[in-house]
Amino acid sequence: MGKELLRKLPKVDILLQHSKVEEAFENNSRVLVIEAVREALEDTRKNILEGNIQEFTIEDIINTFNDILDKNNKPKLRKVINAAGIVIHTNLGRSLLCDKAVNQVEDIIKNYNNLEYDIDKGARGSRYSHIEDIIKEITGAEAALVVNNNAAAVMLVLNTLCEEKEAIVSRGQLVEIGGSFRVPEVMKFSKAKLVEVGTTNRTHLYDYENNITENTGVLLKVHTSNFKILGFTEDVSAEELTKLGEKYDVPVVEDIGSGVLINLQSYGLSYEPTVQESVKKGIDVITFSGDKMLGGPQAGIIIGKKKYIDKIKKNQLTRALRVDKMTLAALEATLKCYLDEETAIKEIPTLNMMLTPPEEIKKKAQLLKRKLSTAPKHFSFHIEEDYSMVGGGSMPEEKLKTYVVKVKSSKFSAKELEGELRNYETPIISRISNDEIYLDLRTIFKEDFEIILNALKALGE
Ligand SMILES: *Cc1c(COP(=O)(O)O)cnc(C)c1O
Repeated sequence: MGKELLRKLPKVDILLQHSKVEEAFENNSRVLVIEAVREALEDTRKNILEGNIQEFTIEDIINTFNDILDKNNKPKLRKVINAAGIVIHTNLGRSLLCDKAVNQVEDIIKNYNNLEYDIDKGARGSRYSHIEDIIKEITGAEAALVVNNNAAAVMLVLNTLCEEKEAIVSRGQLVEIGGSFRVPEVMKFSKAKLVEVGTTNRTHLYDYENNITENTGVLLKVHTSNFKILGFTEDVSAEELTKLGEKYDVPVVEDIGSGVLINLQSYGLSYEPTVQESVKKGIDVITFSGDKMLGGPQAGIIIGKKKYIDKIKKNQLTRALRVDKMTLAALEATLKCYLDEETAIKEIPTLNMMLTPPEEIKKKAQLLKRKLSTAPKHFSFHIEEDYSMVGGGSMPEEKLKTYVVKVKSSKFSAKELEGELRNYETPIISRISNDEIYLDLRTIFKEDFEIILNALKALGE
């Protein structure tokens, strides 16, 4: 049976002459069409071998061909709808850029620009000069530099200040962030020698002091962004550490993780150390991400005392870790919003979504529910109070009160429904809880309600 069917499979050349395929050649690149024909044949062959189909027509293969061509034509990196309610979702691209940043990027990349050109002097300039002043102004630091991401920033700082020297770190701060950033591993690459002091839950000032030697390069403080140790704990404050650093003339470096630039406590969130505080406390070099709570593009921002930043700028590694013009344009526009706190909260999507009042989210949930009233009848919808997360390894304990639309179907299980929404042409990423689909309105835009309705309609009456 299977063998006979396999013999009936048409040759590639025959399919290429089919009117639908010839039509496809007119609107698509040749390579893509031929590839889709091959894939459609391969797909059919596989289905025959696996006993999934007992009969087929040429039209069936052509339909498969069209589906494959459509799929291959779409960009692989594309828009998804974040219905999971995690504001800084690392898997979904972290922070969204504010409009000002988007416009600035567009203007820069469509035109020539002064990336490495000093307009006043009519001579070669530095790509870092454009951004340094605004970072200094907002953070209060003496100097600044921007590299590819925070992992690169930490590596560069350690390599510059601590190559073949010892970096003293508390055992309670040897963290892993998101599976790929592990403090001990980053140190290995930077050629700094890790000296672990204290214990997991308690580290004292004398633990650092007793381990300072001739060969100490830095005292390193790492913000434990994504976990908290509770109970019998002891930590050395930034003030104590900087005093110790001064006494022995050893710089204190802090990886603060998320670049929080406004005091979020005054907006009802839990305390998260700000970049400005660390500067005030006298930390010599501070690194943080551009695309976490700062709400800008992916970047690693290094700030601190001029004598150290100057040294870091001269490191050959800086060239390998440098940022491009799109990042610089987006970061400058984002940082400008911070000159006025109200503007920052209004304009920067990450801050805006984190701080949206629950009542406003509830209204949005009601709007979505109303919109979905024309969805197929096997679906039912309920609005419920729930909690969303900040994400991005930031504020692990913070539960943001939110409202969700719970979706149930008499035809699909929650797991099936989650998969169908995820595989829709605009993927909708939801979360499952108690065998129900939750659509968290904190991170869903009104402009996307139509897409959600169409995704449900595509699942049939
Ligand atoms: C997120 C984080 C990093 C990694 O930053 P990337 O910008 O993702 O490279 C490093 N250290 C801490 C403490 C973090 O929270």
